[in-house]
Amino acid sequence: MMNRQDKRAVAALPAGNVSDKLTQVFAGIGFGAVAALINYFLAFELYGSVTILLGQTFVFLALFTRGLLAALVSTFIAAIAVYLYTYNSFFFVTLAAEVIVVWFLYQRRVPILMADLIYWLVIGAPLSYAYLPTIIDVPQSFLILVLAKLLLNGLLYTALAILLYQLVPKSWRNVAMKPVSDSLRGRVFYLSFLCIIISSLSFSLLYTVRSAQQVEQQIVSDIGAKANSLRQVSEDFVNNYVVAVHNLRDSMLVVQDFDQKIKLMEVTQQNHPGFISMLLANDEGQIVHGVPAAQFAVLQNNPAVNRDISDRPYYFTPKANGLGYVSSAFRGRGFGTQPIIAISEPLMVNGEFRGIIEGSLNVPELSVLVHRTDIDANYQSVIVTDDKHQVIFATPELNLRSLSTYEPVLLPNLYTQDLPLTRIESRDLLYTQRLNSYGWHVYVFSSPHIITQLFLDNLIILLLFLALIALLFAFVTRRFAQDLNRPLEQLAKQLRHNTETPLAVERGEMTREVRTIADNLIAARKVMVDFNRQLQQQVNEKTADLERLNLKLQKLAREDGLTELLNRRTFDDLAEQRYHEAMATREPIALILMDIDHFKRINDTMGHPVGDECIQCVGALIKEHFERRGCLCGRYGGEEFALFVSASENVLELVEEFQNKLATYCEVNGQVIPVTISMGIAEVRHNFSGGSFRRLVAQADKLLYQSKDNGRNRISLETI
Ligand code: GH3
Ligand code: MG
Ligand code: MG
Repeated sequence: MMNRQDKRAVAALPAGNVSDKLTQVFAGIGFGAVAALINYFLAFELYGSVTILLGQTFVFLALFTRGLLAALVSTFIAAIAVYLYTYNSFFFVTLAAEVIVVWFLYQRRVPILMADLIYWLVIGAPLSYAYLPTIIDVPQSFLILVLAKLLLNGLLYTALAILLYQLVPKSWRNVAMKPVSDSLRGRVFYLSFLCIIISSLSFSLLYTVRSAQQVEQQIVSDIGAKANSLRQVSEDFVNNYVVAVHNLRDSMLVVQDFDQKIKLMEVTQQNHPGFISMLLANDEGQIVHGVPAAQFAVLQNNPAVNRDISDRPYYFTPKANGLGYVSSAFRGRGFGTQPIIAISEPLMVNGEFRGIIEGSLNVPELSVLVHRTDIDANYQSVIVTDDKHQVIFATPELNLRSLSTYEPVLLPNLYTQDLPLTRIESRDLLYTQRLNSYGWHVYVFSSPHIITQLFLDNLIILLLFLALIALLFAFVTRRFAQDLNRPLEQLAKQLRHNTETPLAVERGEMTREVRTIADNLIAARKVMVDFNRQLQQQVNEKTADLERLNLKLQKLAREDGLTELLNRRTFDDLAEQRYHEAMATREPIALILMDIDHFKRINDTMGHPVGDECIQCVGALIKEHFERRGCLCGRYGGEEFALFVSASENVLELVEEFQNKLATYCEVNGQVIPVTISMGIAEVRHNFSGGSFRRLVAQADKLLYQSKDNGRNRISLETI
């Protein structure tokens, strides 16, 4: 026979009828609508592509309470909301697959939380791992984070759904969920572990988001400060050389002697090692001198055109505006071919242009600037470009050559909204940029690794924490179940035996509820035992009564009621038995039949009751005289008696003695009634091969009649 639960379980199978399916579809739409609203409005994005989908809780609730069809319908609706939020159709596949796989595993008795974990580990994560890189450009380390988040998200909403299921009224449930465990311990463990998972996952998600935000802020302010510092340092560095050129110009205008001027140039270059070379040009753009002198000597041997710098901006710009000039980076020509930055000043005498003085700042020398900012080489990098985006210097791991062009390419940022993201040498880098007064771009980069690492660290801590909590709960719930079960088991054991001995479990160990149960059970058991005792007593009494009655009945069946001698049937049976035994052992016996003489007269004259008393009287004497000698004595008819006696004694003597006693024995109402009897005695003393008992009786009967015929109060004896 099916119980209610079985019927429900069957109704939830796919083979349900059309109206069942329709009901499931409608339920699915309802649950799906709630799920979609939550997915859409409560979804909060954690680093781009990881969306927390708490609405899925209701999809699972649909699964637990309404079955697979309802869950699939609600998944579809919920996934539409996710699609509208993320424009990612992938969720249609993963979410539906999740529901189907969890249902499938659950039907095979895998606990739901475990089923969801299996789904994400075996199907969900590998699917996403294969698919996500095709729609978003994510680095490997971040992808792993995305997968971990998907898994944790799955566990969170599944756990929430299981917990909500416990709160749903039974009448709402169309599908009976099997309990996860048979034991109390298992169930308590599962439920409490669910609570822990939900709270720790929620806490961990919120905490991770918060700490990620803090880390982001840290990164923002850290690389911001370093960018500011680098801007300042680079500016100061160049300023220092600008001032040097400026001072040199002032000194040169004062000194007239050419050799003195050369000397000043040499001193300036020696004091400013960043200047790879310095030169002096005349008002036509011809280099008239340079340091180091050896290099200038080489240049002097070259054709004059090689000493012409009139096309160089560091020449014609100061010439045109009469002001100092700092160039973009460029490769030197003739006077050295290194990448340089030219710093020049016009030589003006009385407002007339006489030429320029120039210092070539060695670009590679600028890399010393990095050491003046405390850039952490482990995860931070630096690029400084000039006003034309040419790399002046870059930290070596970026592999950027001097003077190559660099401008950051913005990537959609998965990690944080606070900093732009770019990629160099296939490395994702968050960065900040500054502009110094020379139009130089200062970039400081930071690896987002520190954010993802934070997530991974938190994840590992969470997993360790969950494992630890699971262990702790396994222990605690075992103790809890023991505390609850042990007293009950002891109680049951004790109740099976008796209630008198005190409980083996201390009352203090029991919970209040168990104590109440124990008290009630003991009281109930006492009532039952008392009742049983009373019942037993009554049964004993009744049994004794019955036994008494039975004995009486047996006696009645054996005896004659008036005389308490054996009745005729019993006498015949017993006497016949004894007769055969005696015949076998050749023991002499005698059968005596007696009949009261003229008894009718006693009845007629003195009344029946007196007659009865006479019969009793004769019976009593027979008892007294014969029975105690071991004779069988029976009342054979109205006033007739039969005796079976051992004939080892003298039978005749015995009966005569009886006759004598009887003469005065019967006394009724104080009056002696003379009673005589006639006897017929058939004695077997010699011939033991004799005939049947009946013949013996017939013979005794014949002898009795003979005694009657002979005048009564006689004894007729015949010995065979
Ligand atoms: P006899 O000497 O020839 O034996 O004479 P009798 O009167 O004894 O003759 P009979 O055997 O014909 O009569 C027996 C009488 O005993 C008949 C009956 O009314 C009486 N009787 C039989 N059983 C009982 C009994 O239980 N109580 C009383 N009061 N009378 C009985
Ligand atoms: Mg008679
Ligand atoms: Mg008689």
